[in-house]
Amino acid sequence: MKRIGLFCSGGDAPGMNAAIRAVARAAIFHGMEVVGIMRGYKGMIAGSFRPLDARSVSGIISHGGTILRTARCPEFLSYKGRKKAFEQLRKAGIEGLVAIGGDGTFRGAHRFTSEFDIPVIGITGSIDNDCFGTDYTLGFDTAVNIALDAIDRLRDTAASHDRIFFVEVMGRRSGAIALWSGLAGGAEAVFIPESRENLRAVARELVEGRRRGKTSAIVVVAEGEEAGGAFEIARKFKGLTGLDYRVTILGHIQRGGSPTAFDRILGTRSGVAAVEALRRGKKNLMVGVRDGKMVLVPFSRMWNRRKVPDLGWLGLVKMMSV
Ligand code: ADP
Repeated sequence: MKRIGLFCSGGDAPGMNAAIRAVARAAIFHGMEVVGIMRGYKGMIAGSFRPLDARSVSGIISHGGTILRTARCPEFLSYKGRKKAFEQLRKAGIEGLVAIGGDGTFRGAHRFTSEFDIPVIGITGSIDNDCFGTDYTLGFDTAVNIALDAIDRLRDTAASHDRIFFVEVMGRRSGAIALWSGLAGGAEAVFIPESRENLRAVARELVEGRRRGKTSAIVVVAEGEEAGGAFEIARKFKGLTGLDYRVTILGHIQRGGSPTAFDRILGTRSGVAAVEALRRGKKNLMVGVRDGKMVLVPFSRMWNRRKVPDLGWLGLVKMMSV
């Protein structure tokens, strides 16, 4: 394989730049040419390509976001759109692809490779850590640490004013960020979409905690929590207890900023593994990490099963807030 294309698609995640740098440099190391495809499938269809050399990825390992930009592309859902994309790749002499994205990106890639003669290897970029087949997705560790930093700061003000804070973190379908940042931040309770926490029981525990001398509390809520997000939960909580509260929504702050060492290393190892896979003639696989080792997982495995965080951790949160 002489020339590969590389793109980011779907939601952005810190560490994507580390993966871009690794793919580019590993490919160049092996004598291949690398083409950056701007804005995911959208740029592929439009032929928005830029050659990447070793220096064009200098200094990006410490930056969040993605220098290749990312986008969603409804046109790629149609055969016509995908055909156009393939013609652009052919014209540019691109023989293989590395896709950095999430579940949707890989669904698109899977369809694309089954219709056209182009191998694709995927790298999971998702702050939610919700991809089955890998222990960690790129960006999760950074997002958890950003949420944790915010929780630590809120704890200072909560403690000073004897307040209860409801902190909403990202995770529409996945409670992993909430669970990890909540446990690490010493939260009194965590609400996640995968588990139906009993609001009444949590309210009772917070009131009892006050009696035991807990003057402040932090409740972490995943945005996709069924009960309706932090504002709704806090409102119901006030109805049950009469206690005053504050709500903080962290939102997109969790996507930005410098990636942690963990995500930079994961991005680097994933990028190298993706290039190796293409060189060995592999296709339709996602690079994952399991028990510290890089593994290749068929795309199809990802969406056959849903990854659920360890719900036993909710018990740990409770035990630690005794
Ligand atoms: P993520 O990769 O973060 O899960 P999306 O679900 O938005 O993000 O998917 C990113 C892009 O992948 C979509 O905008 C679309 O272009 C493409 N895509 C998603 N699902 C499919 C599909 N079933 N067939 C073809 N392309 C798809």
